[in-house]
Amino acid sequence: MTDSLSEEKRQWNMSRIRSCDTKPEYVLRSLLHRAGYRFRLKTRDLPGRPDVILARRRSVIFVHGCFWHRHPGCSRATVPGTHQERWLQKFEKNQRRDAEVKTILESMGWQVIIVWECELMRSPELVLEKLIPLLGPLRKKTYHIPSRKELLQVAEERFKLKFAKNSSSHGDDPIANNILANSPKL
Ligand SMILES: [Zn+2]
Repeated sequence: MTDSLSEEKRQWNMSRIRSCDTKPEYVLRSLLHRAGYRFRLKTRDLPGRPDVILARRRSVIFVHGCFWHRHPGCSRATVPGTHQERWLQKFEKNQRRDAEVKTILESMGWQVIIVWECELMRSPELVLEKLIPLLGPLRKKTYHIPSRKELLQVAEERFKLKFAKNSSSHGDDPIANNILANSPKL
């Protein structure tokens, strides 16, 4: 249980949870890519380091974990039983930071889109349906909406490979970059 971890270990875990490529991010990338969108991965150039950047559509997407970012009404947005005060402060800080990042990005002319982890993992097709009107239509007349099973499988493979290589770099996913490099430009 997280509370029993030492402060140091907890900080490390939290930083890791926040900054590493996680499975939901892979699901989102596969989803967008298979649907035909082209994008850049997280970069330090933009505040908050969005998970996906669609520069031509002037849009950024964050995949938010329901627990850390407090998905409203979500069963995953629980408050641990002990040290509640500390958790609540932490959550408040996260939410404040999310709001600040959103304001800054919007002032720079970016559309900021939040995708919640639970929705993405439960029904990626529905997430894509919501994203298309926000991002704008695809040039291709017919696009492929991958099934949930297909997406999870791809995400799983990439996730394993990423950690097998013990790579800690960000925005430098060899597979995703390879796909991007070999993809026809829109
Ligand atoms: Zn949720």
